[in-house]
Amino acid sequence: MFALANSEFDIIKKFLATPNLNFLRDGVELGIGDDAAIIKPPPDQNLVFSLDVLASGVHFPADAKPDVIARRALGVNLSDLAAMAADPLCFTLGLTIPEIKEDWIEQFTDGLSTLAREFNCPLVGGDLSSGQLQIAIQVHGLVPDGMATLRSGAQIGDSILVTGTLGDAAVALLGLGYESHLGSDFKLHGLADPQPLFERYFFPSPRVEFALGCRGLANAAIDISDGFVSDLSHVLRESRLGAEIEEAALPFSATAEACLSESMLTQACLNGGDDYELCLMVSQDSKDEVFEVAKNCDLSLCEVGIIEEIEGVRLKTRDGKMVAVNGDGYKHF
Ligand code: ADP
Ligand code: MG
Repeated sequence: MFALANSEFDIIKKFLATPNLNFLRDGVELGIGDDAAIIKPPPDQNLVFSLDVLASGVHFPADAKPDVIARRALGVNLSDLAAMAADPLCFTLGLTIPEIKEDWIEQFTDGLSTLAREFNCPLVGGDLSSGQLQIAIQVHGLVPDGMATLRSGAQIGDSILVTGTLGDAAVALLGLGYESHLGSDFKLHGLADPQPLFERYFFPSPRVEFALGCRGLANAAIDISDGFVSDLSHVLRESRLGAEIEEAALPFSATAEACLSESMLTQACLNGGDDYELCLMVSQDSKDEVFEVAKNCDLSLCEVGIIEEIEGVRLKTRDGKMVAVNGDGYKHF
């Protein structure tokens, strides 16, 4: 246990209540320093918030670099806001650390401020405690009344669109020497170098700009964190519908392709996890506009399937067979 008294306040002053993290912006009336923060949403906007807890040894390797952990922790939260079509406003941080190591905290807060500045999302408060390393971030965002994209809104005939590429983070984890939840058959193949994908695991890119551009265009959305099929299944359950996915349409990177056999590549795309891409359900009328938004954001976007009435997820394989797939994505318990 570290003595909380003075050292805690010193840490807050030196590393958290800094202009790089605790900066002012519209809607934030009061940040770090009082008993609580004050935010003032504009009258016609809804406050959207989401909390993620990242525990050492579960969500990141115990020896991961502090700036990497910080950026992942904030990044995955911003990805949740993007899935709701919410604009980042501010965040709070619950930090539990085994001991006070100033250079660790400095790198951690540097990592946080990189994303905080990029998304104009200041740190406005939190709590600090001793214990096993754990990072809880609650992010707050704004969305105009009635404009949030929910999981429950998918419609029969909607196209299923996915940003970026899938499976890269799963390949990166193999490359970093970690065991995959996809089993012992899931291995690197050939001499290909997975290194270019490490960044895809360490630094997820929340698709905020794209999500804001798509406001009013998608019927439903989710961010892909546990695995594409697993997360799509949440949408289908909430919307009481099913989906057909085309194996040949799944988006993967050239590096992932070089690192995996064909069947493992499909497995990585379907169930890899840690992608932090967005999956949008979009009517045929809005599809072209959504592709235009992606183009303007310089983001690749793929149509991977269609929403159907029959529940469950069916995969049309490259050789034309139809197989049922379930979301064996990452499950915590
Ligand atoms: P209290 O005892 O009233 O909870 P604290 O001493 O925990 O107050 O915190 C003092 C101020 O510092 C508060 O404004 C709080 O939000 C802020 N703060 C504490 N820990 C953190 C943290 N990890 N990140 C950001 N702000 C923090
Ligand atoms: Mg406190």
